[in-house]
Amino acid sequence: MSKCVCIITEFRGGNFRRVSHEVASEGKRIADALGADLCAVAIGSGVSASAADLGRYGVKKVYVADDPALESYVAETYVPVAAEIVKKCDPAVVILPASVDGKDLGARLAARLDAALAQDCTQLVCEGGKLRARRPVFAGKCFTWCEWAEGALPLVSCRPNVMDCLLPSEGEKAEVEKVDLAIPAARSRVLGLDLDTSGKVELTEAEIIVSGGRGLKGPENYAMIEELAQVLGAAVGASRAAVDAGWRPHSDQVGQTGKVVNPNLYIAAGISGAIQHMAGMGSSKFIVAVNKDSEAPIFTKADYGIVEDLFNFIPLFTEEVRKLKATCS
Ligand SMILES: Cc1cc2nc3c(=O)[nH]c(=O)nc-3n(C[C@H](O)[C@H](O)[C@H](O)COP(=O)(O)OP(=O)(O)OC[C@H]3O[C@@H](n4cnc5c(N)ncnc54)[C@H](O)[C@@H]3O)c2cc1C
Repeated sequence: MSKCVCIITEFRGGNFRRVSHEVASEGKRIADALGADLCAVAIGSGVSASAADLGRYGVKKVYVADDPALESYVAETYVPVAAEIVKKCDPAVVILPASVDGKDLGARLAARLDAALAQDCTQLVCEGGKLRARRPVFAGKCFTWCEWAEGALPLVSCRPNVMDCLLPSEGEKAEVEKVDLAIPAARSRVLGLDLDTSGKVELTEAEIIVSGGRGLKGPENYAMIEELAQVLGAAVGASRAAVDAGWRPHSDQVGQTGKVVNPNLYIAAGISGAIQHMAGMGSSKFIVAVNKDSEAPIFTKADYGIVEDLFNFIPLFTEEVRKLKATCS
């Protein structure tokens, strides 16, 4: 039996984020290919209560660091704790989410553990006991395959919403080991975090996203986008032009300097499709673009293109979806 495969989970607001289950599922596949066990690192406040449930996704053992000081991701507290636990596991491979926090944690862990990091991977394969990871480069224009040199510890972050999630098996429980580590809170310069707790669907986990751009002409017109999103059960996104104009918060921004999203359906309204925007949504499963300019670059990526004034189309479309939903329910 070789060393274990270790995943690092994300526990926020009392729950494991879905990407933790995706990472566990991918970890299980790699562990099986290597003939290894899957272990997990669970860090957070109150995480002990649900840690054993990771067993439903194939995790054999969970190392838990549970402390009120670990409520939110703060690099100064999380990184030393995560690094110590990973060292304790002595894994063959470490896999974590390529979320905003996960990318930060991954880079810092790589430095601490002298590991080789492949960030934002979209596919992992294991051939002849060797791991290979596929990741987008040049803002998603092409993909590259990464391999690790003999002796290097592979550290891989996986893009949310891309990897298939195992169907959870009922009743499986992982062994839980509580880890008592000194949390360096005293050294932390972060005194508090103002988190958005408005209960919005998190963009990176959304199945459907409706995004608006400069074509909306002003912040008041986002009511139209929000209404469509509400009818579809979708999250609301925005282009950088809309965020820079102060129409939407930065947490809504999709793209190279915003969030990378992979929903089943991405509706882009009044967005031209600049390369930096497409870097964030180009791998969505279905893309629908609404733009009155038939030459807009977004149509090169779109599965369905509507050349129309969004102020005509979006309200009509919202109404049709509403009617359809009413007949289905
Ligand atoms: C380093 C760097 C990083 C960047 N990062 C990002 C990023 O993360 N995300 C991002 O989005 N951008 C990013 N950008 C900016 C990017 O280059 C574009 O400027 C931006 O995406 C444009 O936003 P937009 O499509 O909303 O606006 P525009 O390009 O102005 O497009 C507006 C579109 O709306 C259409 N339109 C107008 N009126 C209507 C109407 N009534 N009905 C239908 N269609 C209409 C127009 O035809 C046009 O195609 C970055 C740029 C740089 C240099």
